[in-house]
Amino acid sequence: TASEDHADLLVIGAGPGGYTAAFRAADLGRKVVLIDTRPTLGGVCLNVGCIPSKALLHVAKLIDDAAEGAAHGVSFGAPQIDLDAIRGWKDQVVGKLTGGLSGLARRRKVQTVQGTARFTGPHEVEVATPDGTRRIRFDQAIIAAGSSPVRLPFLPDDPRIIDSTGALDLAQVPQRLLVLGGGIIGLEMAQVYHALGSRITIAERLDQIIPGADKDVVKPLMARISARYEAVHLETSVTAVQAGKALTVSFEGKAGSWQAEYDAILVAVGRRPNGALLGAEAAGVTVTDQGFIPVDAQMRTGQPHIFAIGDVVGQPMLAHKATHEAKVAAETACGHKAAFDPVAIPSGAYTDPEIAWAGLTETQARAEGRKLRVERFPWAASGRALSMGRAEGLTKMLFDPDTGRVLGAAITGPNAGELLAEAVLAIEMAADAADLALTIHPHPTLSETLGFAAEAFEGTLTDL
Ligand code: FAD
Repeated sequence: TASEDHADLLVIGAGPGGYTAAFRAADLGRKVVLIDTRPTLGGVCLNVGCIPSKALLHVAKLIDDAAEGAAHGVSFGAPQIDLDAIRGWKDQVVGKLTGGLSGLARRRKVQTVQGTARFTGPHEVEVATPDGTRRIRFDQAIIAAGSSPVRLPFLPDDPRIIDSTGALDLAQVPQRLLVLGGGIIGLEMAQVYHALGSRITIAERLDQIIPGADKDVVKPLMARISARYEAVHLETSVTAVQAGKALTVSFEGKAGSWQAEYDAILVAVGRRPNGALLGAEAAGVTVTDQGFIPVDAQMRTGQPHIFAIGDVVGQPMLAHKATHEAKVAAETACGHKAAFDPVAIPSGAYTDPEIAWAGLTETQARAEGRKLRVERFPWAASGRALSMGRAEGLTKMLFDPDTGRVLGAAITGPNAGELLAEAVLAIEMAADAADLALTIHPHPTLSETLGFAAEAFEGTLTDL
């Protein structure tokens, strides 16, 4: 209908950034149209990212915990793996959430359109829908177009070479899986396939896995996967892949060059913003060579009526950054005062052990020449960690030596992502070591390790 062809606010992309912005603007009274190429809402995060990966990691944890039961006096048999049922479980989780979003959109009268949008002017997009092309005019727009997996141009076109989306499809469990890239996504998927029975090799170009986190924080994960996987090759590049009966991969690393065969390759070497695919120049919106869209603290592009949020505006490419930026963009568009100005954005790998960090890392602080005091509380001294059989964990906190202010935190161990939230709050509220040390943490919990690290700074720690 004609009324559908105009939006007060048009949102391109229905991921965590896009749907949050759409809902917030609708709650503030705007007539919102939300466009996405996919048939379901939720973007990468809900459909092929955060959520399905966590559903599969839960399955992997069940398998791994059962396998380790013998160490605590309980043995289970070999797992019976029903791949269709596992896929069904994952799809059910995703379906609940994406279906829930549709309901939330309907309730707010946010109009959703399935199709791919391109700007044709500063106030108009053309949308390629399954039923043909449609023009939609808008007063304001928010670009939340997200990112896509980076492809390596020298890799052959072969169904056995997959990206994270292919890996989440769980079409088969290859005997020998090479994971290209030792970042968060590659390591999470490696853990899933290892639990399901694949023999895993990781190849990472840099000198550590999860390059954004400090080396000491990553060490317990490195130790665990080095013991379980076929190989974890650091400072190693893949230079060629030949597709025959198997995939023959040529490596180049410190030790020289070599070849090995795999049954599948997961390419997880990073994500590229989708900014260059929108015809943004027709709207006068700048896109960098890398495909990012530069924005100010109100998430405005160079065109004051067009905003951009989420993966498409820059690192870190994380869902919680997108949702917070989304609220700032929607509120600013609706005439409210808002700014995206976080002190810390947490990052995390939901591997086993988990790794989570926020604020300054030690590597960063040293590079910037900042005065710093680092306190590490090893989980070997935590009763709760010991009773879980997980003494390898670590809670690390960075303090300003003069004021005691918390500058950064990193945690390695089960539930690190949940535990980190306290440290993020501390950083955001400018808490100091005394605030944390005097906060009574429940005993026996892993959360005590944050209090202990702060007590170590204060000189009041009695547990070590
Ligand atoms: P996206 O979620 O990428 O959504 C963008 C949407 O825009 C897409 O649905 C796309 O179809 C649509 N679109 C693009 N261009 C157009 C167009 N021209 N017209 C119409 N629609 C368009 N982050 C975390 O914080 N925690 C995690 O645990 C986590 N795990 C992840 C696991 C995997 C395997 C992957 C791949 C990512 C993971 N991420 C995680 C990252 C997270 O998914 C992203 O940061 C988040 O989805 C970004 O949200 P967004 O709104 O910017 O865009």
